[in-house]
Amino acid sequence: MLANVIYNRTSRRYEVANGDQTLTFPAGVDGRREAFQTAVQVEDPALYRLAADMAADHPQLASRIWRAAEIVLMEGVTFKDGIGLVASQSSEYGDYTIQFADGLYTCDCQDFQGATAVYMEGNEQPYCKHILAYHFALVCAL
Ligand SMILES: [Zn+2]
Repeated sequence: MLANVIYNRTSRRYEVANGDQTLTFPAGVDGRREAFQTAVQVEDPALYRLAADMAADHPQLASRIWRAAEIVLMEGVTFKDGIGLVASQSSEYGDYTIQFADGLYTCDCQDFQGATAVYMEGNEQPYCKHILAYHFALVCAL
């Protein structure tokens, strides 16, 4: 969970801190999504732009793109000896390893290994949220 998002059980809504302001969003899937996207926008406008543009161009990847942005903001991506390590969002699974070979990234997560990761049109690369997080971390580091 991003540091600047909380779910307020009393008022049953999501709250995003933005300086002195608190932005609120209704409970439920749509409210949660809006709250998290707003939290990304507040934390890192450049990452938000990157994610929003990619999600608009590739709606089939939108949920993975926003999860990836969360991972990047939680500093879940590290680089070691040319290999990317991406923290699992459910901590018991440890880190996932991103490797690059033959022009394609691979990840050792269930989504990628089970071939349920999603493609962009005209691109042979399947994307899980970890590969997207790795991609965002690389772009944002430039
Ligand atoms: Zn993965």
